[in-house]
Order: sequence, then structure tokens, then C-alpha cells
Amino acid sequence: MSPPTGPRIEPGGARASARLQALNAASDAQDGLTRLTLTPAHRRALDMLGDFMREAGLAVRLDAAGTLVGRCEGPQADSKTLLIGSHIDSVRNAGSFDGPLGVVLGIEAMALLRARGVRLPFAVEILAFGDEEGVRFATTLTGSRALAGAFDPASLDSRDAQGVSRREALVAFGCDPDRIAHEARDPARTLGYVEVHIEQGPVLERRGLALGLVTAINGASRGEIAVTGEAGHSGTTPMAMRRDAGVAAAQIVLAVEEIARATPDLVATVGRIEIPHGAVNVVPGAARLSLDVRSPRDGDRLAAVEAIRARAQEIARSRGVGVTMDMSYDMPAAPCDPALTQALAQAAQRLGHADFRLPSGAGHDAMAFRGRLPLAMLFVRCRGGVSHRPDEYASPQDIESALAALTDFIEHLGAGS
Ligand SMILES: [Zn+2]
Repeated sequence: MSPPTGPRIEPGGARASARLQALNAASDAQDGLTRLTLTPAHRRALDMLGDFMREAGLAVRLDAAGTLVGRCEGPQADSKTLLIGSHIDSVRNAGSFDGPLGVVLGIEAMALLRARGVRLPFAVEILAFGDEEGVRFATTLTGSRALAGAFDPASLDSRDAQGVSRREALVAFGCDPDRIAHEARDPARTLGYVEVHIEQGPVLERRGLALGLVTAINGASRGEIAVTGEAGHSGTTPMAMRRDAGVAAAQIVLAVEEIARATPDLVATVGRIEIPHGAVNVVPGAARLSLDVRSPRDGDRLAAVEAIRARAQEIARSRGVGVTMDMSYDMPAAPCDPALTQALAQAAQRLGHADFRLPSGAGHDAMAFRGRLPLAMLFVRCRGGVSHRPDEYASPQDIESALAALTDFIEHLGAGS
């Protein structure tokens, strides 16, 4: 099934696109968009979003972790709450869509439901998180982790390049870092967390689809492979007598690619290759490789890491070199909730979109809720799969499609609960 075609853009989608462009003015750079956490640009974006939220009938507050919360109350004091959010901080020289899209669409969906007089049987909160990209401080996801009850107070001590701590920046922003733990939501009273985000990859565009449902946010393993051979004179060391660490490393790179290609949805990358003391006339005596392995399934990822280790040892043995593999980072996958994802998929299908599922290769605020709340994500096609660049782009038509699906999802979740 192909998505609806034609240029018809509902006012909500057109307004969302216009608002995303307007938010570009909230930047700390003269040219282009740079909006780091807890900066004047962040403040200006919150002022604009606060206005959008109030216009949609939401009650607005800034929470202790710097998240702007727009709340629509439920019918009863003990009504459960649906969380919808994304982030509004950016990388340097960013695009307009990575993050703000999910916040603006949440607000527009609530505005649409309000205009149609829909009364939901639960409360909704639209969340504008301010700390996803991790550009200013080494730690990240402060806002979403706070809500998930997974906030690490040690991250208050992390400092930016100017020596300002997160604690100091939060206080200057009008937040109370000592109350962050109180922002944690009770899972028993929360329906789940939903995030709309541009795909930041080329899959939807390649398939001609406007929307996709995320199966899981990929887990990741990172580490280093060190190969030790024997350096020698490139002119005098016969080929058969070499223990060339560089050639062994090259073979390991090919093995990494082969293992990744044999595993569905798994990606593995050697992004850095170093030959210490490398020179044009020296047989490499050592080589160092970085390794990054990601998959929506932790079992596949860990099995791939072990397969790479075994192959690297095999290659090393056959070439008479030594090899060690040191995995320093292990982030488990954050699977999306099947029922919540199915509800989102059904909304998309009712609007004529295919039920297409894909994993998320990039991290998102949603992963903070792993194991704590049901989470679901809707991906929106972006041109060329480009992100973290000024030419990042999602069309008004696709934005309208995402808005319609999100609105329909919220309304039907209401009917079903
Ligand atoms: Zn993002």
C-alpha cells in the first residue's frame, strides 16, 4: 500500500512546518541553528513553545530538569497520563527537524483534538526535553531520565567547556536540581511514552514511504581491536617472512563487514584505523581498529561481537600476529512496546500508510524509558536520510501524514482505554 499522494496539506501540518522554521530563530549562532542545552537559545525556544502549548489549551510548566511540560488534564484526578515528547536542543549547525518535529507535532495533535471537541479519557503531557544531543555536557538525557526515574545525580557535576557545571546551568535557568528525582512518573499511572522523530537514515525514502514504526532503539557495543605484528624494512623484508599487522587489520575489517551483513538489522563499523608509527617504508608492526556494533536485538549484537572476536583470532593465528579485543561500552537495546506500537501502526494504516517496521540506529529520549514505561516511536521520512546538517528536511506532506497518524492514535487510544 502506498501513502496518500497529492499536495493537500491540512492546516495543522502546514502550521507545524511553519513553526519548525520559526523555531530556527532560537539559535545561539549568528548563522545557522545551534541550540545547546540551558542556553539563551534554549530559553527562547521554550518561550515560543510555551505560547504554542497555551494556544493548544495546555497548562505549561518548566520542570526541575529543564523540560517544558504542556499538560492536558484527564477527566478524573486519578486518570492515567500519556507522554508524548522529543527534544529541542540541537547539535552545532543543525537542521530544523531533529527533535523539534516530535514536540511541535504533539502540540498540533492536541490543538486538533481540542478544535474537534474530543474529550480524552486520560491526561496527556507534551514534553520538550532539552538535553538529548549531549553537545554541551558529557552526560545526556537528563529530562527523559528524570521522568523515567533513572536520573543519575552524578551528572549534575559534569562541566561544559567553560567549566560551568550542569547544576549551575540548571539553577541559572530557573530549575531546581534538587527536585529532579521528584519528576519521576509512576508507571502504574502512565500509559506510555510516544515519540515522533525524523528517521535520520535513508530507509523510508528508499522504500517510498512517509512513515515507519520503530521496533527498537538499537543497542550498541563499542571497543577496540589491537593487532601486534613485527615492524620491518619495507624493502628488505621478504613477503613470506612478514608479520604485517596492517594486512591482518585489513582482513579483520572485511570480516567485520561480512559478519554484519550476515545478520539481519545488525550494523557494524570500523570507523578508525591506526597504524602507530606508520610510514611509507615500514611494514606495520601494530594496528588499532575501533569497532561499533549495533542491533535491535541484544542477543544478535553480543553474538556478532563474539564472532568478530573469533574471526580476528583466527586471522591473527594464520598471519603469526597477536590480537586483543577490548569492548569498553555496552548499551542494551530499548525495544518498543508491541501493543503501543501496534496502536500507532493501526492509526497509520487507517490513513492509508503501510505498516512498515524498522529499528532506530540512532539514540533517542525514548530509550530513557527502557524497562520502565511502554514506549513507541513513529519515524518520518527525511530527504536523503540527512540529519545533523542544515539541509536536513522533511516535507510538509510527510509532516501532515505524521500529524494525522499521531492524532488518530491518541483519539483511538482514548476509545480503547
Ligand atoms: Zn533527535
